[in-house]
Amino acid sequence: MTFAATVLTLYPEMFPGPLGVSLAGRALREGTWAMDAVQIRDFAIDRHKTVDDTPAGGGAGMVLRVDVLSKAIDHAREAHPGCPVIAMTPRGKPLTQERVRELAEGPGVIVMCGRFEGFDERIFAGREVEEVSVGDIVLSGGECAALMLLDACIRLLPGVMGAASSGHEESFENGLLEYPHYTRPAEWEGRTIPEVLRSGDHAKIAAWRKSQSEIDTRLRRPDLWERHIGVRVQSASGAQREVQDD
Ligand code: SAH
Repeated sequence: MTFAATVLTLYPEMFPGPLGVSLAGRALREGTWAMDAVQIRDFAIDRHKTVDDTPAGGGAGMVLRVDVLSKAIDHAREAHPGCPVIAMTPRGKPLTQERVRELAEGPGVIVMCGRFEGFDERIFAGREVEEVSVGDIVLSGGECAALMLLDACIRLLPGVMGAASSGHEESFENGLLEYPHYTRPAEWEGRTIPEVLRSGDHAKIAAWRKSQSEIDTRLRRPDLWERHIGVRVQSASGAQREVQDD
């Protein structure tokens, strides 16, 4: 089944952009996924094709009009009834690998890109739209965020990545950062590769990688580490309770 990527944007020429090259580009040409960049302006209601207006209550910038956006969403939903609508916004829920995996297993996504100050808030009450952020940063538009979301989904589609297994060992897949990698030359500017990786002892290598992954997560991402430990404690006490209940 082809994964249908629909993007609602004022700049359709930005797509597929970087997703037209390398693995994603090949998968696009092979029909593993399809790209439809929809011009929001085509749904403008007035003669001047206006898509934005000044913010109610005053202030700088412009806001995307809800009446225009809703027409663009309805059009996309009609074409792709099973696809969730995702609005890129720094006010949204931070994107996770878990959500990306769920999306990649579905029929596709309809991604809405903001510009200027963003969307009229009423769109989120009037339509079923998931608000998603790609980090605590502010971009000038949702297009780069949409490319990130799509890239993350596309690499998980069946047949896109060379070794199917490589997807499961990556950072975040098990709640941890991945272990560090090394390759030839064995020595570079006096620095060598950790001895264990050259030992050929697969069990020792696996143990080293697991422990590096834990150490790095604890030091670099205490937030992920806390959650990881929390899940472990929770599942352990859950298992205990089950035993007691029996
Ligand atoms: N006034 C808004 C920012 C608007 S930036 C605020 O302060 O919350 C313009 C557009 O860029 C947004 O509508 C959104 O589509 C996109 N954008 C900016 N930062 C983003 C982020 N971290 N994640 C996802 N989309 C983002």
